[in-house]
Amino acid sequence: MKRCLTCGRMAKDYAEFPCPDCSEKIVRCNHCREIRNPYKCKCGFEGP
Ligand SMILES: [Zn+2]
Ligand SMILES: [Zn+2]
Repeated sequence: MKRCLTCGRMAKDYAEFPCPDCSEKIVRCNHCREIRNPYKCKCGFEGP
């Protein structure tokens, strides 16, 4: 279980990938991926 960066909920189905900008780990739950919720990294990078 990891905390989704977009919705802040704990998710057991999630995708984890490095931020294109700062390589910080970004965690998104499947729900946020499906509805294409944007995410915002703490470095300020925003992506779909
Ligand atoms: Zn989410
Ligand atoms: Zn970043």
